[in-house]
Amino acid sequence: MGGGDGPGPGGPPVTALVEVGTSAYAFVQPGGGWCVNNAGVVVGDRRTLLVDTAATKARALALRDAVAALDPRPPGLIVTTHHHGDHHLGNAVFAPPATVVAHDAARPEMAARGTALRHVWPDVDWGDLPPALPAVTFTDRLTIRLGRCTVQLRHLGPAHTTNDVVAWLPEQRVLYAGDLVLPEHTPFILMGSLPGSIAATEALLELEPAVVVGGHGPVAGAEAVAATLRYLRWLDALARAGRAAGATPLEVARCADLGEFAAWGEPERLVANLHRAYAELAGAAPGAYLPSAAVFPDMEAYHGGPLPCHA
Ligand SMILES: [Zn+2]
Repeated sequence: MGGGDGPGPGGPPVTALVEVGTSAYAFVQPGGGWCVNNAGVVVGDRRTLLVDTAATKARALALRDAVAALDPRPPGLIVTTHHHGDHHLGNAVFAPPATVVAHDAARPEMAARGTALRHVWPDVDWGDLPPALPAVTFTDRLTIRLGRCTVQLRHLGPAHTTNDVVAWLPEQRVLYAGDLVLPEHTPFILMGSLPGSIAATEALLELEPAVVVGGHGPVAGAEAVAATLRYLRWLDALARAGRAAGATPLEVARCADLGEFAAWGEPERLVANLHRAYAELAGAAPGAYLPSAAVFPDMEAYHGGPLPCHA
């Protein structure tokens, strides 16, 4: 199960750079649970591009050192896949000089809620990281040409959040999926949409990726996308039945048979996912704001205590 084997708060970051294509790498942070994310590195002819950074200054500096071993020039571009702080607080280590690129809706969300995890887990040594917000934003698609390869950015959703972006390397069929795909970890759609997540995951499957770098968890292939879709469809049926029976999300989660998903990390996200599904079944628009403060206690109740963060 992921999430339990990472270093404890304040411990040294443990990382591995995995080659996933020609000039394409994944900075995989073992454990992969809450706030322990992955980043991508694509080395271009004239500049290197990062897909996300990391949650803490120590982890972002470890990423910087790993990238420097591939390319001594500082990275020129950072694609931030969405507004959750574990994916962009470390931008400050690179920007400036790097230019941050994200979805139009990511910039205000990063400014308003990008540091929320600092308050959820105040004991983590986050480090001094001033905000480094996107200078370039886009609506649907953006193509970045790095010379030796092309990176297509696509907005999907609302899915995991309102501002999800994936980075797709079409020549190599490498997909940096952000938190739309979390191999061996439970999806988390509290701040997005269930129908939107299903549609986004179907769109990712249609790409037929050879390699999938998720926002957390080990490097995988298309089977991780298919497993995500099975979870989302199972969640949809579970939510409909639970709501029809008048059960609360916590009651439904506690009675649910997780089946093939039982081995995935952070199973408590099921409660939050049910809250989102219930809201949408009651008519909430995809991505409509739901206060996390009302949902985290339910996740802690399911988990049996405070949620562990190993950032
Ligand atoms: Zn996220």
